[in-house]
Amino acid sequence: MIPGTVRYAQGGMALLIHRNYCKGCRICVTDCPEKILVLDQHEVAVVTEIGRCVFCGICAVRCPDFAIALERPAPRWTGPAHDPGGMACA
Ligand code: SF4
Ligand code: SF4
Repeated sequence: MIPGTVRYAQGGMALLIHRNYCKGCRICVTDCPEKILVLDQHEVAVVTEIGRCVFCGICAVRCPDFAIALERPAPRWTGPAHDPGGMACA
């Protein structure tokens, strides 16, 4: 983990804030649909209530300094192993 990173876990997922990268621009604070991001006394983003995070990824995508990352399980393919008709060439 990057030094200065805080990991907020919820079940099998987590939101990581790399505190050394955050410049306190508030973009994530404003754009989080759940309003669970605030700036602390050092003007660095923190999560107030990870249990309400929906892991939409908006904060991570919009942070201009790559200070936020999400940990999510890799998606598992639940469809058929073979689909001989679906991708057939004409
Ligand atoms: S992943 Fe979505 S809900 Fe969770 S803190 Fe980021 S913007 Fe908010
Ligand atoms: S968008 Fe990034 S740099 Fe701006 S306050 Fe949030 S974590 Fe910090």
